[in-house]
Amino acid sequence: MKKQFFALFMSAVLMGSLTACNSSTPEATTAAATEAETKEGAEAGGKVLVMATNAEFPPYEYHDGGEIVGIDVEISQAIAEKLGMTLEIEDIAFDSIIPELQSGKADMGAAGMTVDEDRLKNVDFSDPYTTASQVIIVKNDSDITGPDDLAGKYIGVQLGTTGDIYASDYEEQDATIERYNKGFEAVQAMVQGKIDAVVIDVEPAKVFVSQTEGIKILDEALTVEEYAIAVKKGNTELLEKINAALAELKESGELQAIIDKYISAE
Ligand code: GLN
Repeated sequence: MKKQFFALFMSAVLMGSLTACNSSTPEATTAAATEAETKEGAEAGGKVLVMATNAEFPPYEYHDGGEIVGIDVEISQAIAEKLGMTLEIEDIAFDSIIPELQSGKADMGAAGMTVDEDRLKNVDFSDPYTTASQVIIVKNDSDITGPDDLAGKYIGVQLGTTGDIYASDYEEQDATIERYNKGFEAVQAMVQGKIDAVVIDVEPAKVFVSQTEGIKILDEALTVEEYAIAVKKGNTELLEKINAALAELKESGELQAIIDKYISAE
């Protein structure tokens, strides 16, 4: 196992240096990582488990130096280990994750993904591993004090997320939705005065607010949601294995320990 982790770390370093050369070619990085991981997987006699994610979502998945780290990464690593497989991370746009599963290029999507009726038409979800909520971020001096005040405002979201879905309900009340590729870009746009509020998941919201002067999270959440791992629709074999691994991780306390490592209790 140690050897596998070391190999994973080395390929992360490799990925990091490739990224540093040309940060606009995630495809190339992914391809290089695939090759490295596949070789390692073959050496270890195991198979590769490809995790599609969008590493712009701290503390679930984010870049730390040349590495992609976070709660989902560690949960997925623990699952891969239980399955005797080598984890490979594919960092892509959030709204590409489901197509990537459907095409079979990735085995599972672990990206703080909320279980949602519409998504269930296209993918299957594992048992949930945590709960989350959508919150509203505003400037400290904003006149927005709760969800009702979003009417008529400019609201920033991350494209294709549940924040996007719920904020879009306010379009009927003359709100304008601005969709960004990264949640943090929405926060920056708000700081620059381009939009009035950001609707996003609570934990990344806390991280972004802690990194930014003059903004806050409103007390009243918009929704409560559950995160789960997505697989290609009908891939019950993998889904059952993931659920069994998740159950063991819950039972042993490992899952909670991973969450606690990244999220301090209030
Ligand atoms: N939980 C949200 C969703 O599933 C956001 C996930 C994300 O941005 N990574 O849409």
